[in-house]
Amino acid sequence: MTVKSESRTYLNYIGGTWVPSHTGEIEASINPANRNDVVGYIQNSALPDLDGAVQAASAAHKAWKRLAGSVRGDYLYKAAAILEKRLDEVATAMTREMGKTLPEAKGETARGVAILRYYAGEGMRSVGDVIPSTDSEALMFTTRVPLGVVGVITPWNFPVAIPLWKMAPALIYGNTVVIKPASETGVTCALLMECFEEAGLPAGVVNMVTGDGSVIGRGIAEHPGIQAITFTGSNAVGKTIGQAALARGAKYQLEMGGKNPVVVAADADLSLAVEATISGGLRSTGQKCTATSRVIVHQDVYEPFKRLLLERIGELKIGDGMERNVWMGPCANEKQHRTVLAYIRKGKEEGARLLCGGEQPQGSGYADGYYVEPTVFEEVTPEMTIAREEIFGPVLALMKAESMEQALALANDAEFGLSASIFTTNIGAMLGFIQEMDAGLVRINAESAGVELQAPFGGMKQSSSHSREQGRAAIEFFTAVKTVFVKS
Ligand code: NAD
Repeated sequence: MTVKSESRTYLNYIGGTWVPSHTGEIEASINPANRNDVVGYIQNSALPDLDGAVQAASAAHKAWKRLAGSVRGDYLYKAAAILEKRLDEVATAMTREMGKTLPEAKGETARGVAILRYYAGEGMRSVGDVIPSTDSEALMFTTRVPLGVVGVITPWNFPVAIPLWKMAPALIYGNTVVIKPASETGVTCALLMECFEEAGLPAGVVNMVTGDGSVIGRGIAEHPGIQAITFTGSNAVGKTIGQAALARGAKYQLEMGGKNPVVVAADADLSLAVEATISGGLRSTGQKCTATSRVIVHQDVYEPFKRLLLERIGELKIGDGMERNVWMGPCANEKQHRTVLAYIRKGKEEGARLLCGGEQPQGSGYADGYYVEPTVFEEVTPEMTIAREEIFGPVLALMKAESMEQALALANDAEFGLSASIFTTNIGAMLGFIQEMDAGLVRINAESAGVELQAPFGGMKQSSSHSREQGRAAIEFFTAVKTVFVKS
């Protein structure tokens, strides 16, 4: 393995200082576009490291929770300004660590800046209600209090936006944080910690411990010093975290997978539907929880939709996300690459018809990366694995519907319920979809991926533990309500 001379070793950030793990072990963060490129090294930590971080967060909480919301907000405004100044550097680290294209990584980092500013402003907003008491001499009201130390466990697919949309509300409402990012994107997370450090956040208010999910992630779920856990990642892991948190009475929030449908009605604007399917399904190499996965097309427009889709997919440039004009990068890591190729094999074995892609692209530019061609199957039936399980790769499953009723039934035939789109010009069809579709995000004439940061985000069914992230909704998770009764 070639180690680039600039590969830096990043330490854990605990109690306002950068410290090596007790284990003395480090692991490499590899560029999925070129596995010979080591982006940096992160700590492979053990439970004593986590204990240190929890102690630091717990000690810092005493003073942090007493600050005025506006003062906590000032720290977030400062962190936002620093992240904005370092946007190119952070976005470059993100592209090198997990493969999304540089323009996408810059867009995500800019969103991170906006998230920090949004929650900085929330520090000035009222947090409770005055409730009329039946006793005319009493005052009754609610207020909200922080929970304490919040454990944040995040995936690699949005390594700036997801940590920040969890950490910023946790902090503004008076909690302190211990974060364990996905190891694949530990360097990007360390850069975020540097922004908080430079913003002058008091020692211990944010802490980062990198390491194995089954050690540090599990340790967070089980740690008696952590009062709440916010997790985004796979269902399998989310369920174990939920069980561990429940067993010890900790609050938890799980945002997990999706199998998001797009319905294309006979009266849809086909070119809009095609562009949105490509963008929603294949951007970030299909590695978004809200990525379009099932494409349910009315039989009357099936053939023209398919033709246009394949034509447009044929024009997409695949390659290293750092290069100009590349539209789609590699899968984020070796495991994801293997998983996606295995799902493609399964699709073929179970009788779906491959229309395009299905392989690692050929050529020297692709040999050292975890690339998969944009892949489209048709004749996909609801019981097939590729119609049921989350693939998290650039794979679309086309299904033909005879009627809008059948299309809706197919769309709802999933264990997940995160995001769903419909393309139609008929207001009745739009309203029917809004009412009947079991998904936390319902999108009309818009791709399945993406929701603005000031709006609630989360899923139904197996996609979520049913609380919501982002926007004003975040206050529900990151605070506890106190009902106060005052009698003079
Ligand atoms: P993952 O579940 O493998 O890992 C997520 C995080 O959990 C990582 O930090 C990992 O180290 C940690 N972890 C692993 N094992 C653990 C354990 N036993 N206990 C505690 N923590 C553990 O997910 P991933 O592969 O990083 O990300 C892809 C998944 O994330 C997909 O399923 C995707 O749908 C989901 N996702 C969901 C959303 C959403 O908002 N719904 C957003 C992005 C990604």
